[in-house]
Amino acid sequence: MQVYLVGGAVRDALLGRPVRERDYVVVGGTADALLSAGYTPVGRDFPVFLHPESKSEYALARRERKTGPGYHGFVTDFSPDITLGEDLQRRDLTINAIAQAGDGTLIDPYGGQADLAARVLRHVSPAFSEDPVRILRVARFAARFAPLGFTVHESTLALMRQMVQAGEAAALVPERVWQETERALGESRPEVFFEVLRACGALAVIFPEVDRLFGVPQPPQWHPEIDTGLHVMLYLQRAVALVAPVTVRFAVLAHDLGKGTTPQAEWPKHVMHESRGLPLVDALCSRLKVPAAHRDLARMTCAQHTNVHRALQLRPETVLKLLGECDAFRRPERFSEMLLACQCDAQGRTGLEESPYPQRAYLERARELAAAVVLTEEQRAGLEGQAIARALQARRQAALEEHKRAAAERSALR
Ligand code: ATP
Ligand code: MG
Repeated sequence: MQVYLVGGAVRDALLGRPVRERDYVVVGGTADALLSAGYTPVGRDFPVFLHPESKSEYALARRERKTGPGYHGFVTDFSPDITLGEDLQRRDLTINAIAQAGDGTLIDPYGGQADLAARVLRHVSPAFSEDPVRILRVARFAARFAPLGFTVHESTLALMRQMVQAGEAAALVPERVWQETERALGESRPEVFFEVLRACGALAVIFPEVDRLFGVPQPPQWHPEIDTGLHVMLYLQRAVALVAPVTVRFAVLAHDLGKGTTPQAEWPKHVMHESRGLPLVDALCSRLKVPAAHRDLARMTCAQHTNVHRALQLRPETVLKLLGECDAFRRPERFSEMLLACQCDAQGRTGLEESPYPQRAYLERARELAAAVVLTEEQRAGLEGQAIARALQARRQAALEEHKRAAAERSALR
């Protein structure tokens, strides 16, 4: 029985990046041999075992044969005569198909080291096209490694394009699309994930609402880059620069979907794109089974981003209404996340990355001030039900009047 380190650990070590998890492949072994050596079985679809001490994953070498569409249509063979070369051959990318023996020797039959040096993401073999998840994985690796200069090889992109044309992207299950998207949003160049999907045609299949934004113009005085799809990509970059969490990055992705349905005659204006966007956000989220936390923040950002941009001009009662609609008193963290998403929107524009966005601090403070207003026993005396609510409302509004006046005074002094 021979054991080799494979996949991400070998790749990341060669790139000089920190290694997080170690996966091993076992050649010439059987499930029984691993079980009697104390390994714990964990694989649901394939025989994978956890090492008794290190808890690293050990998988029996395997060979795959495609029998039907999608990624369930596989027959997998993991008999002990399968060679290391065969196991590496069914892997997605050459840079992920390098094995390392216990003595440090690298086994690299598909040129993974050369592709690491050339900064190329290239498929191992034509068998790549047997699993549509690989389209998502390549796009995600492109998003992760773009800062190092990696790009998808033209032949791999061509293969991905063929797969999409053959209907493979439509066979992806929503859970897997979301899982890969969520991970991609957390990478350092999330926009590259969507660009690669667009380049192979998969974006139109799995994110038609996002795909539709490309080619839609916006007024150049607000958006120097004009194209709405491009704007969303810049906005994602801004979210990374502001260290926004994945929930915010998703809200960033989804907030302008309504611009994809503006009648052409109205271009480059997008009247009511906020309310037109909501059903599109809902459709995308229910199709991909996006978690409620991500969905709710995206809906809120879609509905409110224009109001937030105008925060300093809004009447105090409108600010109060905004706070109420966002449930900001009970959900202050989510409200803050929405303000951050709006900041990414405002600054995710060519040349405007560092422009000030006082709206965020202004509304944060407005929420604090309004939340701090409570009625004393004396003020409540003789009031009931609706009257109490109205009295509270009036005092909060007064606090926000003062807040607005003070902010105007500060900006006049500047
Ligand atoms: P990460 O740093 O994200 O863990 P990784 O390369 O280790 O990257 P894993 O998802 O942990 O990726 O998978 C481990 C290895 O298994 C990959 O390097 C690749 O060789 C192989 N692999 C995983 N999924 C697929 C797939 N769908 N098709 C082909 N090979 C795959
Ligand atoms: Mg891994």
